[in-house]
Amino acid sequence: MLLNISTTSTPATDLSYLLHKHPDKLQSVDLSTGKAHIFYDEATHNRCSVNLLLAVNPIELVKNSRNNNSDFALSHYVNDRPYVASSFMSVAMAKAFSTALNGRCKNQPELVDKIMDFSVQITVLPAPKGGEMLIKRLFEPLGYAVVLKRHLLDAKFPEWGNSKYFTLNLSGSVRLKELLAHLYVLIPVLDTHKHYWVSESEVDKLIQKGSGWLNDHPEKEQITKRYLKGIGGLTHHALDRLLEKDSADLSDDNETKDEEIKVKETLHQQRLKLVLAELKQLGVKTIIDLGCGEGKLLKMLLKEKQFVKILGMDVSYHILDKAINRLHYNDMPPKQKERLQLIQGSLTYRDKRLDGYDGAAIVEVIEHLDLNRLKAFERVVFEFSKPRSVVLTTPNKEYNQLFENMDPDSFRHTDHRFEWTRQEFKDWTSEVAVKNNYQVVIKPIGEEDQKVGAPSQMAVFTRYE
Ligand code: SAH
Repeated sequence: MLLNISTTSTPATDLSYLLHKHPDKLQSVDLSTGKAHIFYDEATHNRCSVNLLLAVNPIELVKNSRNNNSDFALSHYVNDRPYVASSFMSVAMAKAFSTALNGRCKNQPELVDKIMDFSVQITVLPAPKGGEMLIKRLFEPLGYAVVLKRHLLDAKFPEWGNSKYFTLNLSGSVRLKELLAHLYVLIPVLDTHKHYWVSESEVDKLIQKGSGWLNDHPEKEQITKRYLKGIGGLTHHALDRLLEKDSADLSDDNETKDEEIKVKETLHQQRLKLVLAELKQLGVKTIIDLGCGEGKLLKMLLKEKQFVKILGMDVSYHILDKAINRLHYNDMPPKQKERLQLIQGSLTYRDKRLDGYDGAAIVEVIEHLDLNRLKAFERVVFEFSKPRSVVLTTPNKEYNQLFENMDPDSFRHTDHRFEWTRQEFKDWTSEVAVKNNYQVVIKPIGEEDQKVGAPSQMAVFTRYE
């Protein structure tokens, strides 16, 4: 499987600086299922042409595969994966060209924004039904000229007709980082398989790589849906977040635009709303948000006057930085700033800074802790900090079987260390409550399925006085 990118914008060797890959060397990177080789077939002042050759190892593929929906027993071994551009290609691009894809160039930073004339060839690209049209609808709005050559099913038997495979040639004038981001997102969009489980982190990748172009793309919905392989919840989530980005670009007084931004409520939004409602109803005034992440709940808490003192804590500095940006912490009026404090810390170590609060929110955090650290967590929250009310949520593992494409034995997020059934959650919460003198009530989050329950679950702990 080969991706070729060439330019005739002089000096064409700028391409090699941008890619951080020396034109005279063959370089290789390891992938979980094979290797990607990077080499140039020409690197002169007038033309520079680089290749990314993907060598997928079908045996590794079998070892790594979680799901095989095909009726054909040997499809694990005999399939098109080693030969076509698919999500493997995106993974290879992210690994081989990461600096360029992220818009960085150490030695010549000014090159990052240089618009160059590029030609791209991808052999071989699979496309679903109506593929020719779809490929054009994806690439043409981004300013590329598209030339497609469809391959026969078997050249020896032309009467068998066409296959679903194409060779794609694109040409256009763009920045390299844009070109790579377009390919990174759109190649897997055309493929009906995906080699890794589509998790929430895929939404992040889509938002990041789609930044600056996906919002305005006429096929935005289709791209998002196909990229996330039709997992309804995630698709809506991604579209919401794209809209969120959109809305951030709008001025506040633009009512008509605001009207258009009627986003569908995602599971996470529902969850946060329910948590907020519980905290309000419990009369909590001072609150700690433990594992606060990017500060989505903090933002909602800040809007409610009831919460006079709010502390967000997370183990990750990186995510706290995001929270600071998201909440515009540095530009907050002093009164607002006084109410909010953000700290770095781990929930598995006793921390005096968490003492003396009325309530705690712990939203989708415990499943990120190693099971053998859970006891430490319990002590930190329920024995030492011991707020009067604790609202805690975690996924309901039983619901996973309703997610299309998801192996019921895997987790919703790659960082999850465990996920619990309703019974497991109930057992744990009861034990924690009894041990620490709390009362506990469990509530569903999201639409309940008769058999497997709701997608997420919430425990509301209240300390006996
Ligand atoms: N509560 C947020 C984020 C959930 S993601 C929300 O609902 O949007 C889980 C968060 O827990 C991540 O931000 C992660 O950094 C944090 N986390 C994981 N282990 C932690 C630990 N030991 N102590 C504190 N935070 C932790």
